[in-house]
Amino acid sequence: MMHYSHLAFGLLVSLLSIEFLGIKNKVLFVLIVLFFSRFPDIDLPHSKIGKKHKILSSLLNFIFGHRGFLHALYVPIILFFIIDLINYEFALATFIGYVSHLFLDALTKAGIKPLYPLLDIKINGPLKTNTFFEKIIFFVMIVCNVFLIWNYFI
Ligand SMILES: [Zn+2]
Repeated sequence: MMHYSHLAFGLLVSLLSIEFLGIKNKVLFVLIVLFFSRFPDIDLPHSKIGKKHKILSSLLNFIFGHRGFLHALYVPIILFFIIDLINYEFALATFIGYVSHLFLDALTKAGIKPLYPLLDIKINGPLKTNTFFEKIIFFVMIVCNVFLIWNYFI
C-alpha cells in the first residue's frame, strides 16, 4: 500500500482508539500511531520513510529484506513491552500504528509473513498497491476520518 493509505488508515484507527479506549493524551497518541503506521516500510529504501533514512533503510533491507522481519508481528509486540515500561498509552499507540500497517499490507497480493522467520506462513489479499482501487479505499478512509474528526469536535 502507498504511504498515504497507511497514514489515512493510521489516522482512522487512532481516532477510533481514542474514542473506544479512552485515551487521555490524544494528540501524542495520534502522532505516535501515524509514525508507526509508516515505520515498517523503513525496510524498503525507496519508500517514503526509507528515502528519509537512506543508510539505515538500505542496511535494514540488506539484513531483513522487504516485508521480512520488520513486517512480522514480533516487532510491534516487543516494542509494546519496551515502551510500556515508560508509558502504557504510548506503547498502545506504537502497537496499534505498527499493526495497522501490517493489516493493510496483508490485504495486498504481496501480503505479509506475520510469524517470519519462525513460520513461513503468508497472509495476503486481493489488493494491488497504487491502483485505482487503492485510491478509492484511500478516499473512503479520508471521508471516515473527516466524519470522525467532525463528530469529535462538534
Ligand atoms: Zn509495508
